[in-house]
Formats: sequence, C-alpha cells, structure tokens
Amino acid sequence: MPHSQEPRTGRFAPSPTGDLHSGSLVAALASWLHARQQGGAWLLRVEDIDPPREVAGSAASILAALSRLGLQADAAPLYQSQRGDAYATALQRLRDAGHAFPCWCSRSDLDAAHAIHHELHRDGHCFTPRRGDREPAWRLRVPDTVIEFDDGLQGAQRQNVRSEVGDFVLKRADGLWSYQLACVVDDAFQGITEVVRGCDLLDSTPRQILLQCLLGLPTPAYLHLPLAVDGGGRKLSKSTDAPAIDACDPRNALAQALRFLGQDVPDASDVATMLQFAAQDFDLAPLRGMTASAVDA
Ligand code: GLU
Repeated sequence: MPHSQEPRTGRFAPSPTGDLHSGSLVAALASWLHARQQGGAWLLRVEDIDPPREVAGSAASILAALSRLGLQADAAPLYQSQRGDAYATALQRLRDAGHAFPCWCSRSDLDAAHAIHHELHRDGHCFTPRRGDREPAWRLRVPDTVIEFDDGLQGAQRQNVRSEVGDFVLKRADGLWSYQLACVVDDAFQGITEVVRGCDLLDSTPRQILLQCLLGLPTPAYLHLPLAVDGGGRKLSKSTDAPAIDACDPRNALAQALRFLGQDVPDASDVATMLQFAAQDFDLAPLRGMTASAVDA
C-alpha cells in the first residue's frame, strides 16, 4: 500500500479497569499495524477519567504488557486524569457558543423518565428545577442533524444523534468528564488521524464527530474492528473476566491476535521482526463487514 502524503498517527486508548486481555490486544495490535503500515506514528493514551471503575495498578500493567509485546509508542503516554483543564476549556467553549446546558436531574429522575430527551429535556433545556445543594451535569444541546461517516471497515454510517441518543452528558454532576468529550479533545491534542478500535464504539462515533464540528476540531478516519467474543458470543472484556493475555509468551499472544485479525502469522524468532513483517502485509480484507468474531482463548 502506498504511503499517504500526510503524516498519519494512530493510537490505543485503554481504560485502566483490568489487565490487557485478548480483546483489547486485538485493538492495540490492529491500530499499531495500521499506523506502521502507513509509515505513521502510534501513541498511547490512558483513559483514567473514571476513578470508581479504575483497578489500581492496571495502567502500569497494561503498559508493561504492551512493551513486552513489542508495541512501542512514539511518545510518553497521555493520562486523561491530567487533562481536566483542557476538558474544562472545551466545555466553556461549548457553553459560550450556546451548545451546552446545565442539567439538574438526579439518576432516579432519569430512571423514572426513561426517554430522557423526550420527557425531562426538550429543545436543549432541562426541566428539572435547579438545586442549590449541588453542581449540575452539563449536556450537549444536540442539533437535529444526521451525522454521516465512512468507516474503514464497516462502510457508510449515519445517525441522527438527537433522535437516537439525545442531549448527551459532557460532564457528570459528580464532576467526572464524559468519555465522549475527553476522547475528542485528546484525539485532537495528540494529532490522531486514524482511530482504530472495537465495534462497540461504532455508535459513539457520530457523537464524537458532532463534538469535533462544534469545537472546530479535525475529524480523524475511523475504522471499527469486529468485536472479540467468546464461544458463547459474549464480548471479551475486562468486565466479563476475559483472561489476561500471557505476556510471558508474547509471540504466542501476538500470533493469536493476528489470527483473529485474519492475518498470516510471520515466522520470526522475536516480536519486533514478527511485527515488522505483519505490518508490511497487513490486509483489512478478511475483516471487512464483520462486526464480531470468536477469539480462541
Ligand atoms: N478507553 C476505551 C476502552 O478501553 C477506548 C476508547 C477509544 O478507543 O476511543 O474501551
């Protein structure tokens, strides 16, 4: 494949909620192969914005496993826990432009209402009375437009974010930043041009593209990989206790992830050579149109 003119930059953005498992290794490896095949850079971002869900030590363990697998980044990892000022600046810009509004609904109000954007929120306003005893959440005033994009594997996508998602949260009432806002601000900050990640995030992408438009940020190319599922069709994730990959046997872990991605496994005695050959030959064709595939655990 010819190298494109523009410098390309990919990334892997794990949440530190457990060890690296085979499902997340697939995303890490595919993003690395895709970036390297284009002669591009590859960066890491630790998405540690949700302390209640964080597992102590897992960020370090994920980074150590990636390094043992030969998946070296071109810069020090970015930690989202250090990026609050940048998220606050983005929220302020959205507020100044009239794109964000405060929401005083409690979780029980929302649970009771179910269709949040029809009953408690209309036309970008929250109808729950202001409460003096706590901070509000901040939501995006989502316009009634259809967001379209062409996914590198899943093809043409379209979503009316207003009718299908509603006025989504940017900052929670407890002060935590939303994944959508943090992801968009940091993809732009890190100069990401290629987002390669699992299909479970396909329906977040229109929200992210909408935020990029409203914040005047560039939109990267998106490529959503089939989800790694177990024999019973369940998504492999840290929350379903997927086994951590065996970083003591990195060649075998890489071989398994390459097979999942439908790639040949190069015959090489070390991970660096294996990765180099795999990047040269990386071919998306076996993955096209697949949304899920079983991984041999
Ligand atoms: N942190 C997310 C996860 O671990 C990935 C976010 C992304 O790639 O945009 O599922």
